[in-house]
Amino acid sequence: MKNFILKIWKDPVLSKVIAVGIVAIISLLYVKVISVIDKITFNTALNELLDLKIRVIYVLIVILIYLGIKMLLRKDKGRYSKKQLRLREFNQLKDSQTGILFRWGVYFHYNNGPFISDLTAFCTKHGTTPLRFIYNKCPVAGCENAKNSIDEYAIKNYIESELINKWDKT
Ligand SMILES: [Zn+2]
Repeated sequence: MKNFILKIWKDPVLSKVIAVGIVAIISLLYVKVISVIDKITFNTALNELLDLKIRVIYVLIVILIYLGIKMLLRKDKGRYSKKQLRLREFNQLKDSQTGILFRWGVYFHYNNGPFISDLTAFCTKHGTTPLRFIYNKCPVAGCENAKNSIDEYAIKNYIESELINKWDKT
């Protein structure tokens, strides 16, 4: 049920329809309460409400309710914005010259700038499964990628530079 609500809430049109529905229900409840308090019929109270020019305070309350519900649901939607999710897909790169595959995770600072973590290198020269590096080099003796260890810091810097560039462009 919760997932269903989250799913339709992600839909920009449906979420607005639901928001309007919620506002309508709240409005009707408001009319009902007023009719009871003022001891008038529901219809009279409704007419009185419709006669009122939309007050700023009323609009503000509606907006606050809308934003409140949206924020509550956003917490479950995951921490990433659409732009961030798109950038997170850039999480691996293969150096065709050396056959080294790099994988990493993309995360974001509080000011939204991207950075990477868990940078791992793999050698793709030994069968179908990329072989993870040990001590920054391929663990297979005699492999080209076992001769020199990679400069993890330089690679991290290169990838992050790419990410920052992509982030600024989107
Ligand atoms: Zn290797």
